[in-house]
Amino acid sequence: MNYVSTRDNSVSVPSARAIGLGISKDGGLFLPESIPSLTKEDIDALVKADYKGRAKIVLRKFLTDFTEEELDYCVEGAYTGSFDEELPAPIYALDRTVGILELWHGPTCAFKDLALQILPYLLTTSAKKIDSGKIVILVATSGDTGKAALEGFKNVKGTDIIVFYPSDGVSAMQKLQMDSQEGDNVCVCAIKGNFDDAQSRVKEIFTDKQMAEKLAEGGYVFSSANSINWGRLVPQIVYYVSAYCDMLSVGTDLENGFNVTVPTGNFGNILAAYYAKEMGVPINKLICASNQNNVLTDFINTGVYDRNRAFHTTMSPSMDILISSNLERMIYMLSGCDDKQVTEWQNALKSEGRFEVTDDVKGKIKDIFYGGCCDDEKTKSTIKETYEKYGYLLDTHTAVAVAVYNEYREKTGDTTPAIIASTASPYKFANSVLDALEIEENGDDFQKLATLSKATNTPIPAPISALKGKERRFGDVIDRDEMRDAVCKYLKI
Ligand SMILES: *Cc1c(COP(=O)(O)O)cnc(C)c1O
Repeated sequence: MNYVSTRDNSVSVPSARAIGLGISKDGGLFLPESIPSLTKEDIDALVKADYKGRAKIVLRKFLTDFTEEELDYCVEGAYTGSFDEELPAPIYALDRTVGILELWHGPTCAFKDLALQILPYLLTTSAKKIDSGKIVILVATSGDTGKAALEGFKNVKGTDIIVFYPSDGVSAMQKLQMDSQEGDNVCVCAIKGNFDDAQSRVKEIFTDKQMAEKLAEGGYVFSSANSINWGRLVPQIVYYVSAYCDMLSVGTDLENGFNVTVPTGNFGNILAAYYAKEMGVPINKLICASNQNNVLTDFINTGVYDRNRAFHTTMSPSMDILISSNLERMIYMLSGCDDKQVTEWQNALKSEGRFEVTDDVKGKIKDIFYGGCCDDEKTKSTIKETYEKYGYLLDTHTAVAVAVYNEYREKTGDTTPAIIASTASPYKFANSVLDALEIEENGDDFQKLATLSKATNTPIPAPISALKGKERRFGDVIDRDEMRDAVCKYLKI
């Protein structure tokens, strides 16, 4: 199985190269030339297997240039000991038809861990296979990717990791998580700007020829831990397949399939669900939930992607994104692999901030997706109502998904079983969650955690309580146009 670029169909590389490079030279994203299907035998084996076994079965289909030993090494290394009770992605039944797929039982309490615990293994294994130099991971983060990538890559031989986050765009806990990061190959920098500023500059640094020369002289190559890297996406397919197997195991009535709701930012997580669907998991509707930065809601409803709008800083900061990178993969697939057309659209997005897809693509999008959004007020009331009704505590991102799912169900009357991806622990956003529950606590961030825990009788995740008293190793805030220099300075090139 080879990988093509969304902007050039003549590119064809094995997965190790796609993962090692992160992004294609033409600026396009790598994706598999076809989507493998799950056979009846696969499903039987998947249902019987534990999470690691399921991961191996799914990864094997996409990473055909990896040996069985290499896959074993990657999967065992990533998912042994780093997740709660060896159950990385449990489903909490909210009621008889709605399950919350909890994806935050890893070391940084966000769903990103499920991919970023394994990415360093995939990447270093790929680097060996393609004989590349020392890997420099550049990350632009809206909060959770940064920390999850730092934890995944810290002290991994042959790698360095540099993380940029928007100084005013992350929660207090997220900031502390990143600024206190340990490891001798890590660098963390806050920028004056938002996530899109960070992401677009990282992409520029990546494709800059002069920079590439400097790097090569120093024996380095860049790669990406953002969801533009295929190595991030493929492990995310696993938990949707695994959720399906769990539902089969407990005898959920899946005669009419099931719906999946995903709180969405860069379109990575929901794209993984689409891949699972295309592999044969009986997913009906993919419900794409956005916060007030609702560029995707409009796109799904109109076929016009228009980022020329106000950027909102919301209480679900990991979704404060106006340029959803992975949408490029989606429109490539839906346009029948039309690389020229995708290049045109992406160029228009870059120069005018806008593109409009064809009627054909619009129709397909509407068949597959439902798009909805909600503002902070609705997010808060959803947290409160869900807690009062079910005794279940949502984080701010998952609350957006629950609000949009409720709206979908009301509008359509569709009562097909559904899972809602829960992307972070509420304790990462304790401030906003307390606010939503109308609990006053004016103490410091750790007092807030304690109050939330007491009020809701839920435990503070260990990785969050462990932050108390940690020394801040980083604290620099730089201009967004100084990112390139910061990279050179850290690497001494
Ligand atoms: C990253 C993130 C999202 C958005 O996921 P995408 O894959 O970028 O769409 C949603 N919620 C949380 C908590 C996140 O960290």
